[in-house]
Amino acid sequence: MASDLLVEGALLDVDGARPGYALFRDGLLTETGSVGTASAGPGVRTVRGIVVPAPVNGHTHLGDAVATREPPHTPISEIVRPPNGYKFRLLQETPAAEKRRAMRAALDRMAREGVAATVDFREEGLPGVRMLRAAARGLPIRAVALGRPLRRPVERRELDALLEHSDGIGLSAIGEESREVRTIVSAACRAKGKWYALHASESNREDPEEYLDPRPDLLDLEQRMNWLSAGPYGNRAGDILLLPRACMNVPIEKRFYFAGITHYTWHGSACEQDGHVPFILAHPSETGAEMRSIMSDFGGDSPSERELTPLVRSLFPYPVQAQSAAARPTDGR
Ligand SMILES: [Zn+2]
Repeated sequence: MASDLLVEGALLDVDGARPGYALFRDGLLTETGSVGTASAGPGVRTVRGIVVPAPVNGHTHLGDAVATREPPHTPISEIVRPPNGYKFRLLQETPAAEKRRAMRAALDRMAREGVAATVDFREEGLPGVRMLRAAARGLPIRAVALGRPLRRPVERRELDALLEHSDGIGLSAIGEESREVRTIVSAACRAKGKWYALHASESNREDPEEYLDPRPDLLDLEQRMNWLSAGPYGNRAGDILLLPRACMNVPIEKRFYFAGITHYTWHGSACEQDGHVPFILAHPSETGAEMRSIMSDFGGDSPSERELTPLVRSLFPYPVQAQSAAARPTDGR
């Protein structure tokens, strides 16, 4: 059937990475196994590639999507500290409908880029969590909502209501939340089987002993490295966070993963430039038109990261094993 697809190459899932195949029928994964043993009949479209679970964004503040300008150059505490930091004033001043639209647009973009779920640290108490639920309704991406109670001292009723509607609580850092607050919140989360998350400060080197008491979830690094990207929450991936913040300060052509310049990392960039990785195809002796004609098969002007492996495979073909070559029909592309 035209909608069936056999991917031969490698698999990465909860059992680890290994050579193998994955067979998809009508867009659903129906079978995996060793290359050459698929039950796919003749005519199934076959490609070579690496099959991985869809990624999970381990840390977002989707409400920040309402920001369209670089925040002022002030200490980070004046930007992100609740309740009166720049971002909280911005959230307060923005009408709910506008925030919901911005969050939905951000979620929609993530879904189109292949992200399966996001763990969102939602500000603004219960109304904030409800806003996120409304924004995510009907979209093919799971929004895990970690809410944040507004009242201090913590009010039991607010906390219970929040836990009723959220997947857990995501607090600011130790500097903003007393041990008493953290203890009450973490105990309430544990009692309901929900997550308790706490930010570590960028600007202060906090005492690890204090940060870990009470111990936040989302911490078990070794286990999560093993789980990375497999399981219902993408395995709660999100232990390793890359928080770029170059915005327009560094031209796109001067950004490198490893650079001998000051690194620009900060929590929660409002700039789209920091969240996009350019997809560039170039060749020293080919023209732009030739490059464009190749890209037309791989997403054209808006390729996604899912086109990368097929593109690389087509540019650098290598001999297919005799076993699977026999089963390989012509690629209709
Ligand atoms: Zn955060």
